[in-house]
Amino acid sequence: MKKINKGAKAAILNNNGLQQNLNDIIQNRITGTQPKLEHSKHYYRGDKHNHNHVIYKLLELYNKKCAFCEKEYNNLDVDHYRPKDAVFEDNRHSGYFWIGYEWSNLLPVCKSCNQDYKKTQFPLKKTGKRLKFSTSWSQNDFKKVEFTNLDNINKLEKPLLLNPEEKDFNPKKHIKFNRDGIPTGLSVRGSETIRICGLDNSTLNKHRKEKFDEILVTSLLIFYRNHDLYNDERLKDELLILFQKIKSNFNEEYSLFWKTSVSDLQHFIFDNPLFNLKSDHRLTKLIKEVCLELKL
Ligand SMILES: [Zn+2]
Repeated sequence: MKKINKGAKAAILNNNGLQQNLNDIIQNRITGTQPKLEHSKHYYRGDKHNHNHVIYKLLELYNKKCAFCEKEYNNLDVDHYRPKDAVFEDNRHSGYFWIGYEWSNLLPVCKSCNQDYKKTQFPLKKTGKRLKFSTSWSQNDFKKVEFTNLDNINKLEKPLLLNPEEKDFNPKKHIKFNRDGIPTGLSVRGSETIRICGLDNSTLNKHRKEKFDEILVTSLLIFYRNHDLYNDERLKDELLILFQKIKSNFNEEYSLFWKTSVSDLQHFIFDNPLFNLKSDHRLTKLIKEVCLELKL
């Protein structure tokens, strides 16, 4: 996961038709005339063009990556962070239907995270209070910032599922990965997010490890085997190129995996029997210098 500053909403969400649709849904819930009106059937008024407009904007913001697992895709679901039709943890909850078109509630999410794992799960901390629609709500209540804005609702509810768009989001405090690509929670929210979205599923773990081996282990091994051919200056230049390449992955697929692995990079190299580097080896000194220079 990676902190995202969302900025202006997809323009289509200001569309009168969508607003009318939302008002109809709200009215139906208040009067109870059609309490089971399916939001999804009316979502974007069934207009593929509207849906595409939203997903393109989300893909751009998230660099084509799933908001939770960070795997790259050309197509992702427009997922509702707070589920719009039902809540798994509370079968009497009608879902957060009033934020069905709220920009801060829409995330680009892959089919695995969304449809295989997350579904309608939205657990809260024990100290959180779940926001529930009441028939006493007026049309204006549905637009209140404390009922619609991500950070405002979070203060009340204390959700366990992390959201890349929440204020002061720092994923490194919540999830770390080992060199085999397997995530571990560093906080209750981190562990819950891994569980809810299946971030430790074998396909993802395997893919992360393959990427890590392909870019880091292979490159370093080639480098290590040939290091005697170079003087210190040349070696340092080569190391800088290699470590810059590693750092460039911070914006790519699995950025959190790369960041948490790289913070342990020196440890990984020096403790690895493949490299057999003693503390007085000239490569040891140069790697430390380069890591310091690149703030790795
Ligand atoms: Zn995903």
